[in-house]
Amino acid sequence: SPEDRIRNFSIIAHIDHGKSTLADRLLEITGTVTKEDMKQQLLDSMDIERERGITIKLNTARMNVEEDGKDYVLNLIDTPGHVDFTYEVSRSLAACEGALLVVDATQGVQAQTLANVTLAMEADLEIVPVLNKCDLPSADPDRVCQEIEDVVGIDCSNALQCSAKTGEGVPAIIKSIIDAVPAPTKSEDQKMRLLVFDSFYDNYRGVIAMFRVVDGSISKGQKIRFKNSGKEFLVEEIGIMIGGARRPVQKLAVGEVGYVCANIKTVGDARVGDTIIEAGTEDEVEALPGYTEATPMVFCGLFPSESGDFDAMRSAFEKLSLNDAALFFQPENSVALGLGFRCGFLGVLHMEVVKERLEREYDLDLIVTAPSVEYQLLMKDGTETTIQFANMLPPPIDIAEIREPYCLLEMIVPEEHMGPCMELAVQRRGIYRTTSFLTQGRALLEYEMPMAEMIRDFFAELKSRSRGYASMDYRIIDFRANDLVKLEVDINKTTANPLAQIVHRSRVTEFAKKITKILRDEIPAQQIKVIIQARIGTHIVSSANIKAVRKDVLAKCYGGDITRKKKLLQKQAAGKKRMQAIGKVNVPSEAILAVIKQT
Ligand code: GDP
Ligand code: MG
Repeated sequence: SPEDRIRNFSIIAHIDHGKSTLADRLLEITGTVTKEDMKQQLLDSMDIERERGITIKLNTARMNVEEDGKDYVLNLIDTPGHVDFTYEVSRSLAACEGALLVVDATQGVQAQTLANVTLAMEADLEIVPVLNKCDLPSADPDRVCQEIEDVVGIDCSNALQCSAKTGEGVPAIIKSIIDAVPAPTKSEDQKMRLLVFDSFYDNYRGVIAMFRVVDGSISKGQKIRFKNSGKEFLVEEIGIMIGGARRPVQKLAVGEVGYVCANIKTVGDARVGDTIIEAGTEDEVEALPGYTEATPMVFCGLFPSESGDFDAMRSAFEKLSLNDAALFFQPENSVALGLGFRCGFLGVLHMEVVKERLEREYDLDLIVTAPSVEYQLLMKDGTETTIQFANMLPPPIDIAEIREPYCLLEMIVPEEHMGPCMELAVQRRGIYRTTSFLTQGRALLEYEMPMAEMIRDFFAELKSRSRGYASMDYRIIDFRANDLVKLEVDINKTTANPLAQIVHRSRVTEFAKKITKILRDEIPAQQIKVIIQARIGTHIVSSANIKAVRKDVLAKCYGGDITRKKKLLQKQAAGKKRMQAIGKVNVPSEAILAVIKQT
């Protein structure tokens, strides 16, 4: 039957190990896309993704291949390559029967190799190990095979070696997909169930949902229902993706992968992980397992630098959220930063990508506040709530317990850099779990660590302590009660709201000192004395003063050269624009930002 000739597979890899390059080669060698048509890295189509070399939104490609005189259909289901998008990775893997595990033969197993392979095993996929970059002189495929066997625990005696760059060894991979990846199991007579593994917004067609037919079939003109959201639509078009282009078809049967357009207005109505069923069958047909709503894990405030940009920012957010079901935003009025938004993201990268898109695609100049995690509060009256910003914290007297999210952190580091990396983990309140050694001088370290410490530039610090060699991955495991307090900052007795943060008691002194020092250096001297105090409740942890200066700043330039005078005036004018009055003190926005960035 036709489904015997279908192979649905993904490529999983650590960042930079060659997933996109291999996907390109597969499309090229199967003649799906001609070399002339092939844009560099076709599958990563968003600009930011291309620049950062990561895949955020998934793309699929259908390839037709002839092998031993038989025609096969290979559906490549691309997965996002970042830890923030684990849920989306798990849904696209759920649409496959197999996965190519690509490992850079010069680098070996890395943190996301492990994370991805764990997901693939949980999805019961047939895993085909592929050693890439074998064209490089430093490639050591035998050692890396051993490493995969030791760490991942899969047989590598038949591991394939290739160069995605030159194409060497890639035809053998195609043969291996056909031989090793199972065909979809058939259940053609059953009622329609489609797994949505990606959805995105198209300006002309509205939302396009990518799906895998798990049971039954779908036809044009049918009335469908998203089982979890309960939304119903009339199918306008179904089809398959060939090299980035949509080709409409009349019907797609069990095992096949395709797209559907049904006049859907936002991706929130066609969420990844939802099950499409035939309208009217909702009482008899169950949803496919594994659906969860994307929950934001990292929060921050985003404010326009120009207060007049607030409306433009709101409309930009609305447009972005058509295509991003995980993006959370809500207007906020901050004393120091003006009108802006409180936002929630899947993780730090998701946050950076959204910020970058607002700046680039919508031409907005933004101020970002320090990222925060979500805290669970148990109140003394027995009620529970969650908060995402220090300003939302009720009086401590009413709180019985504050819980913060913990993650399981896996780092792979060269043994010679283990010391400084472990020191960092402890500094960040990490709880040591285990060490295991990989082949040839690398160690896999496991810690449990508060997520709040992770989002404070942990990865950058880890990279610098390992000379760039460490890789890491994390996943949230639970919430734990800790001794957490609100650290606030007063400037001449007026509280600077954007600077409040929730900090573990053990780190309060360090943070308080840092904050007062930064503000002392960044706030220009004024006509009155400035007193900066970092405090918990009424207890002052650290303070600093800035002496008053005479009114005419230019007096000191008297007789000095004219350009210096001019420069000073210019600087003052520019400064004025971004000054915020906190109490009677003029605080430059840069001072607030410096604190937010460095704590
Ligand atoms: P991804 O992050 O896994 O998608 O990795 P990419 O496909 O973007 O590749 C990362 C870098 O490795 C790019 O600069 C590629 O040109 C390079 N690369 C990928 N495959 C090979 C290969 O087989 N040999 C060599 N020498 N370089 C490769
Ligand atoms: Mg890529």
